Amino acid sequence: MFNVQDLVRENIKHLVPYSSARDEFKGEARIFLDANENSLGSPLIKWYNRYPDPLQWKLKEKLSLIKGVSPEHIFLGNGSDECIDLLYRGFCNPGKDNVIICTPTYGMYEICAQINDIQVKKAPILENFQLDLIHLENLVDENTRIIWLCSPNNPTGNSLDRPDVEMVLNNFNGLVVIDEAYINFSRHRSFLQELADYPNLVVLQTLSKAWGLAGLRLGMAFASEEIIHVYNKIKPPYNINQATQDLALEALDQVDQVNEMIRILVAERDMLVPKLKELPMVVEVYPSDANFLLVKMKDARAVYEFLLRKAIVVRDRSKVSLIEGCLRITVGTPPENEELLLALKEFLL
Ligand SMILES: *Cc1c(COP(=O)(O)O)cnc(C)c1O
Repeated sequence: MFNVQDLVRENIKHLVPYSSARDEFKGEARIFLDANENSLGSPLIKWYNRYPDPLQWKLKEKLSLIKGVSPEHIFLGNGSDECIDLLYRGFCNPGKDNVIICTPTYGMYEICAQINDIQVKKAPILENFQLDLIHLENLVDENTRIIWLCSPNNPTGNSLDRPDVEMVLNNFNGLVVIDEAYINFSRHRSFLQELADYPNLVVLQTLSKAWGLAGLRLGMAFASEEIIHVYNKIKPPYNINQATQDLALEALDQVDQVNEMIRILVAERDMLVPKLKELPMVVEVYPSDANFLLVKMKDARAVYEFLLRKAIVVRDRSKVSLIEGCLRITVGTPPENEELLLALKEFLL
């Protein structure tokens, strides 16, 4: 049987978390002299002299309506990157535990593991970019705490087959994290509505991609109340600043505008695929459920440098195992994509 408490690090179980002034007094007062803030105000919007809500309840209420997940099941981080790091700090013992990643995938799972002195085991994805379930199963031992899944996956762009993900969720007794940073560009269903069925599930999403707010740094983790409780216990007290909370609240009212951007980016992506395929230096354009394309080139490095001379920068992934010779190209604005195609047509093999 899965029990979150068996996974929580011993020192975290016994931790008495920092209690801020905002935690200790939550009532309505007229005069706030409890937090050593500047009582006169600030040079900016006047309430920025005050510490922000440590648990961001207003923001979580609004997200709850959009996502269909109650606020108690939401943790907000300073980008998904904080949501990733805190899982290591809460659930993995340095020098002892290990996690599994399915390479090639997002780099931060491994970097955060290294920072936290957690061993990383790799189950490379198959040639069709799907999970190698047999390899995964063989890598699990009694110290495996987390399996990281990314769907749609960065940098391959594909979604993982749902039955494979369900197989992992049903059979692994540690945390299964599904990073859905690109889910809004995909036709596939999110795992958000499955939280009640899987106590070991953590779904990560972010405002950095479809919502167009990479600069705000707002990541979301959705999980059981028990997992969210661990997150809240170990997070920095004011990890989401007031400006981010204010601006995110404003942005979340613009769902229609965001859906329109998603529609345009997906249409541009689907327009780029056949046009890239007919170029002589392109070997393959892989199907994408995200806002980028993984493109195999005859000489990726040469194309990369050629584009750079035209002041167009793409991501060189040509030395990455399983995707050798590939560039990762983000879908741009319609004129940017036209310029990319024009530039590539000038490239001489
Ligand atoms: C871009 C990206 C993120 C976003 O990270 P933030 O810290 O929220 O900006 C998360 N996961 C994956 C796989 C990504 O590609």
